[in-house]
Amino acid sequence: MARKIGSRYTAHQILGRGSAGTVWLGEGPEGPVAIKLLREDLASDQELVGRFVQERSALLSLDHPRVVGVRDLVVDGNDLALVMDLVRGTDLRTRLDRERRLAPEAAVAVVADVADGLAAAHAAGIVHRDVKPENILLDMEGELGPGGSHPALLTDFGVAKLIDSPRRTRATKIIGTPDYLAPEIIEGLPPRAAVDIYALATVLYELLAGFTPFGGGHPGAILRRHVTETVVPLPGIPDELWQLMVQCLAKAPASRLRASELAQRLRDQLPLLAGIPPLEVDEQPGNGSAEESQEEPGNKPEPPRERPKGAVPLVPPGGASDSNRDTHTSMRVPGPDELAGGARGTARAPRASGSPRPGSARARAEALRKRRLRLGVGAVVLAAVVGVGGWLATSGGDDAPPRDTENSAPAEP
Ligand code: ADP
Ligand code: MG
Repeated sequence: MARKIGSRYTAHQILGRGSAGTVWLGEGPEGPVAIKLLREDLASDQELVGRFVQERSALLSLDHPRVVGVRDLVVDGNDLALVMDLVRGTDLRTRLDRERRLAPEAAVAVVADVADGLAAAHAAGIVHRDVKPENILLDMEGELGPGGSHPALLTDFGVAKLIDSPRRTRATKIIGTPDYLAPEIIEGLPPRAAVDIYALATVLYELLAGFTPFGGGHPGAILRRHVTETVVPLPGIPDELWQLMVQCLAKAPASRLRASELAQRLRDQLPLLAGIPPLEVDEQPGNGSAEESQEEPGNKPEPPRERPKGAVPLVPPGGASDSNRDTHTSMRVPGPDELAGGARGTARAPRASGSPRPGSARARAEALRKRRLRLGVGAVVLAAVVGVGGWLATSGGDDAPPRDTENSAPAEP
């Protein structure tokens, strides 16, 4: 069943559903397009519609082969839609779910593509703010690159900014996905380009390891890890690649590479990575109470667990179930004392006798598991108000623009 979107587009069939709305395969004057129809509750948020219109020219002007182009923004009656280039393929989360871990060459090729897209965006003064596997699309019609990877394109530019609001910022809320949030955002600084580098380095780590460096458990615990913990090395990772990741995961934004340099340095490493199989990293255990029992040294390793997809499960206020891959999480900025965590959250337990050989992959993974357990137990201090619905409650419509502005949005001031 076809559906008209504005005067120029027709939506034909659903391609996918996300936290912000539904993506349709559609048709426009210049051929097939993807149309993201924002959720009704978003579309009826007058403040968001106003920002949508304001952002129009910035979004439309971003034109790069590694960025999913936004062709049009449509405000029409109750519909609020982003018309995008159609990418025939899948997203990186789907690939990662299927393969669990990517070989270093393939992972680096994908991330280098995204870094190229970010370099173009940052040069245009646009910060993405929500870089994660869900927002990286793989173009299956594109030529295969190093490691057998399809070209990767970054999508959902501007969506985080749309959903953020000055009022919410004043209320010290954080917009983002916990696993990928740079520490400076958690500490309340405005998001600059370096937050995208941090998030992209987190994605690279996740592609190689099968889990994010600071993810798992309560959102508050994740936030605190970003600020206070150092990243645990991955066994078998080539040193040069590791150094690059450490630099881009630096707590201080100024220490991170710029996107263009990151892309270049990653590409330089590709020849050295050819043929290296996926790293042998033990599965990331969860943080549930079942994990708290000490594993017997002689026991068989635990069977692989299904990793929570994307961000941690978040339940929006009101109890409606929502995707645990939510694009946007609204959280209170924790205070300095909460972030510091105190001794109870970070004290290291002595190594039990019979533990794996220090430095082995298993030892590292186990250290990681125990660290997470301790943090999971100790990190109840952060009250996180989570879920897309959270910020909706704080939005109002007192500065609403007119709603019938299809294709007549003013340029940015
Ligand atoms: P959200 O960010 O709101 O959670 P997404 O942007 O991830 O939603 O879109 C949901 C799904 O729609 C994606 O996983 C993907 O399968 C599909 N999709 C999104 N954008 C495009 C596009 N430009 N071309 C083709 N498919 C797309
Ligand atoms: Mg998305």
